[in-house]
Amino acid sequence: MELLQSVLNRMGFNSGTVDGIFGDRTVSAVIRFQNAVGLTADGIVGERTWNALMPYILGYFTVTVRQGDTFWRLAQQYHTSVTAIEAANPGVDPQNLQVGQRLTIPTADPVVITNISYSYEILQLNLKGLLARYPFLKSGSVGNSVLGRPIPFLQIGSGGVSVGYNGAHHANEWITVPVLMRFAEQLCRGKAFGQSLAGYDVRRLLEKVTFWIVPMVNPDGVDLVTGGIKPDSAPYRAAQAMNTGLPFPSGWKANIRGVDLNLNYPANWEEAKRIKYEQGYTRPGPRDFVGEYPLSEPESVAMAEFTKQHDFRLILAYHTQGELIYWKYLNYEPENSLAIARQFAEVSGYAVEETPYGSGFAGYKDWFIQEYNRPGYTIEAGLGSNPLPISQFPDIWRDNVGILVLGGVLSVS
Ligand SMILES: [Zn+2]
Repeated sequence: MELLQSVLNRMGFNSGTVDGIFGDRTVSAVIRFQNAVGLTADGIVGERTWNALMPYILGYFTVTVRQGDTFWRLAQQYHTSVTAIEAANPGVDPQNLQVGQRLTIPTADPVVITNISYSYEILQLNLKGLLARYPFLKSGSVGNSVLGRPIPFLQIGSGGVSVGYNGAHHANEWITVPVLMRFAEQLCRGKAFGQSLAGYDVRRLLEKVTFWIVPMVNPDGVDLVTGGIKPDSAPYRAAQAMNTGLPFPSGWKANIRGVDLNLNYPANWEEAKRIKYEQGYTRPGPRDFVGEYPLSEPESVAMAEFTKQHDFRLILAYHTQGELIYWKYLNYEPENSLAIARQFAEVSGYAVEETPYGSGFAGYKDWFIQEYNRPGYTIEAGLGSNPLPISQFPDIWRDNVGILVLGGVLSVS
């Protein structure tokens, strides 16, 4: 429902505030859309209406070339640009279009949706849209979640230096997913159209750096919080039975079987366990349970394996909240870690801090720093209690785009 309202608004059929309620304004927007595309204007969103909306949700049409079509005419017809069509169809000679040939025609709007609760389904839709529009983008899976969902990664760039960014280790910190997806889209746009991002020429950057992005480490947990896992389902009820004292499901940080993924890495895990057990977190639950042993969870295993395969010079692990940059792990970090953290602080306005002792072990960035003696950071984006409202997205993006770009820039300099 939020997706419907969001796409109608994006297309200019004002459905009012995106609130997930199928009210009069939404019905009237649906009717105007149906009229515009020649469907029965009944205000009911059935299969045909969804199918007609889908290209706008995905961000592209798949079109079969007809007699007389040119890129320019198709751009007029679909309200898009010739350069966008060229980028999406790199192998096609515009002077020699063949009748019956299939083309990808991007819509005029961005792909990544940044104004609604971000679920695994939306991640997949947005990923499909980006891959169609930007054929140089590569993606794959780092492994499967507890519920068997592939955890996607995106690979952008052809540089010899790799950096690894990830989001949503913690379920109710899902706002980090659209941040990383927006970043991926901006890199793709920059490369396709020769634009800059945060003051840096994207094409030049991507010749030196390859960005490996895992936007949603914990898809099951995110869907528990954002509604993709329904209240009448077995996983929802099992999680609810484990829940203790926190708002449910909005307080959930763990993976779907109650392990806090950012306390599950082999970086002095025993100390993390001692601390968390002392605080009373001795069983699977919404947060702070370290797991039965280090790397007991498929999501943390997938991240560790992925990291081992890619020789990352630097990693960013995105969390919320507090507008903080954590850079230290015991004394393992290299000498330049603090200087880089200070540059991140300068472009974001976030504060550079040392991790409090009680949460100072067994996190992904702790493990990365310990294993590789390279700069690794936990970025705590946004302010307020989790889950942060999506209305914070524009501020969080503004503050973090510089960090995301600099992570690459500083890894080659
Ligand atoms: Zn977190």
